[in-house]
Amino acid sequence: MVLRPGNAEQIAEIMRLCHEHRIPVTPRGAGTGLSGGALPVHHGVVLSTERLNRILDIDERNLQATVEPGVINEAFQNAVKEVGLFYPPDPASKGSCTLGGNLAHSSGGPKAVKYGTTRDYVLNLQVVLPTGELIWTAANTLKNSTGYNLTQLLVGSEGTLGIITKVVFRLLPYPSRIS
Ligand SMILES: Cc1cc2nc3c(=O)[nH]c(=O)nc-3n(C[C@H](O)[C@H](O)[C@H](O)COP(=O)(O)OP(=O)(O)OC[C@H]3O[C@@H](n4cnc5c(N)ncnc54)[C@H](O)[C@@H]3O)c2cc1C
Repeated sequence: MVLRPGNAEQIAEIMRLCHEHRIPVTPRGAGTGLSGGALPVHHGVVLSTERLNRILDIDERNLQATVEPGVINEAFQNAVKEVGLFYPPDPASKGSCTLGGNLAHSSGGPKAVKYGTTRDYVLNLQVVLPTGELIWTAANTLKNSTGYNLTQLLVGSEGTLGIITKVVFRLLPYPSRIS
């Protein structure tokens, strides 16, 4: 079964029901991942994030943006560039892959050599846990030393720990020259 929820609350309800009935859930962005993480090898439900595709806020003063996980990487790069900001992670699949999938793989392309990968640009994640609880992993600040680093635990976890439903990224000023 493929489910295409439109918001975090619907995902929370799906996860609660699936947890109660012991039904496996496999999150899926655009399905471009090369390790097969979006394949429902345990059967159950494929949970597509394709409808969670909005850029919710670009905060130019604080160099941050809040997005939903189904936003396509290149669309995000272009949107922040329009206001003079820079989101460096650039996997070669940027024209089709989603930011949620990028987080689950900590994707990076050629710019990773200078700027790092997706892992280096995430400040805070809204996540639906397998039990259906909705949490934020951190705060929208560069310095946050309280508690465990759940944000970085989620990054690279390939959809095994929860469903990322919102992301706060940090951004850079757009460089005056890119060679
Ligand atoms: C032509 C091509 C070029 C590529 N180039 C690069 C490259 O240069 N660098 C690089 O690092 N990678 C590259 N990749 C792989 C890249 O990691 C993926 O394209 C991308 O990160 C996956 O995004 P997706 O939206 O397709 O995710 P999917 O393939 O749908 O899913 C990937 C994983 O993320 C999980 N997931 C998806 N959304 C969520 C969510 N909201 N919450 C929790 N888990 C979630 C899935 O369960 C799965 O485990 C390339 C792939 C292709 C096909």
